[in-house]
Amino acid sequence: MANKEPVNPSHATFDLFVQAKTCQEVKKHFTELCRQLQLDPKDYSNFYTKLKESLNYWKAKAVWTKLDKRASQDVYEQGKACAQNKCLVLGAGPCGLRTAIELSLLGAQVVVLEKREEFTRNNVLHLWPFTIYDIRELGAKKFYGKFCSGSLDHISIRQLQLILLKVCLILGVEVHTGVEYKGLIEPSVEKGWMAKLEPPSHPAAAFQFDVFISAGGGRFVPEGFKHKGLRGQLAIGITANFVNRNTAAEIQVPEISGVARIYNQKFFQDLLNETDIDLENIVYYKDDTHYFVMTAKRKSLLKRGVIKQDYSDADQLLAPANVDHAALYLYAHDAAYFSTGGQLPDLQFALNPAGQRDVAMFDFTCMHRAEHASLVRERRGKKLLIALVGDCLMEPFWPLGTGIARGFMASFDTAWTVRSWGMGVQHMTVIAERESMYQLLSQTTTENTSKKYPLYSIDPKTRYQRINLSAIHTRQVKKPFIKAEGK
Ligand code: FAD
Repeated sequence: MANKEPVNPSHATFDLFVQAKTCQEVKKHFTELCRQLQLDPKDYSNFYTKLKESLNYWKAKAVWTKLDKRASQDVYEQGKACAQNKCLVLGAGPCGLRTAIELSLLGAQVVVLEKREEFTRNNVLHLWPFTIYDIRELGAKKFYGKFCSGSLDHISIRQLQLILLKVCLILGVEVHTGVEYKGLIEPSVEKGWMAKLEPPSHPAAAFQFDVFISAGGGRFVPEGFKHKGLRGQLAIGITANFVNRNTAAEIQVPEISGVARIYNQKFFQDLLNETDIDLENIVYYKDDTHYFVMTAKRKSLLKRGVIKQDYSDADQLLAPANVDHAALYLYAHDAAYFSTGGQLPDLQFALNPAGQRDVAMFDFTCMHRAEHASLVRERRGKKLLIALVGDCLMEPFWPLGTGIARGFMASFDTAWTVRSWGMGVQHMTVIAERESMYQLLSQTTTENTSKKYPLYSIDPKTRYQRINLSAIHTRQVKKPFIKAEGK
């Protein structure tokens, strides 16, 4: 017999919101949900409470339980710690969104700007145990049932963005897509700090803020910050995504969670002998796609005709005109085929948003990191805290899978900094503490961070085993970080 139970339209919309698989779908169902429940998503400080009250739906309750648990941590001071702060977050990558969630839990008004309209990256992120725990505790399983089931410790970038976007919206964060940040506008007598946007008439251009978080990804350097490049040995990364049809045969193929040359000489020698492909390491994850990331040796790329001409300069070597894409596809295909023992015989490339085969070659020879993580600008008596998170702060070496873990650590550290800012801690102390935390970031490993994941919070003492928040003295930060310009 058909189920005659009346369907509450808002329950059905909530289900669609939870299941939505693209950024625009998420936003559409969220807007519809707000309309049906007559909720104003701009009422950020009451939004979550009102949503809970008006959507009396058992499926939603499982999400509320998770989020209420997080929100009850003492550090948020019941959402009052930053109730007076207005935060602009540049970038809806995983780190921008993760930071936005924390700022919202602290009670701040949070606006996120993202220049893209869609989340399209199939590439897969390795997750450390604390990130799995963290994302699960935000209700990830409710939004993406497959999240880290069994022993899986990875997720595609786009799926992670979708989960975090949904949590952001539920908590009252405003997320604008299709809008590009172009720079800061200094305050006038009447107005505070604002952002220059493209399109200039975008409503978020009127937002005045006292905290600016830059999460614009690798190589994005906001004004006032300097990046330094750490030049290592030539390292050429190749990523490739193949269609995953989830057949029984595909499910059987074991993943390769990272095999490096030094640990399996025979594998790499056989690969070289059979295919002329010479790799330093290779990772294979099964997610929405079959995803491979490998570090390839220059000589073998030349030999297989992927790189046309040899240059000592990495930029010239990997310039698009010097790459034969057909040869690159074949190289990635053959490496994937060999490393899975031929068990994936029907390897068909997934397509990227441009409709091309999703294969890319990246140069990791020079990794960038910001010289410092935060600064304060002051103009006309109006202070602005600026902080960097994610790849914008420190670029990761993807094959090692450090990106998202260190990225989230920096998101939490930054949220702690904003908390201090909101609670009136002297701004030089705020900066000195942020820089003290930043000193630890590049050495952070799964071994030297606390294993007590349930105790993790934005308080750095809950995560770092040894943290000295006064490692950098306020005297040391005055000159480089505090920029007071006129009155
Ligand atoms: P990102 O994820 O890069 O997000 C930055 C966001 O800011 C982007 O959405 C961008 O559109 C937006 N943005 C930038 N400038 C502006 C602006 N002016 N205005 C508005 N919005 C702006 N890591 C791995 O471990 N494995 C991989 O295979 C892998 N592949 C990657 C492939 C690509 C193409 C890229 C860019 C990154 C990849 N990474 C990979 C890195 C990984 O995505 C990041 O470590 C992770 O996503 C955390 O990054 P983030 O949030 O700091 O920045």
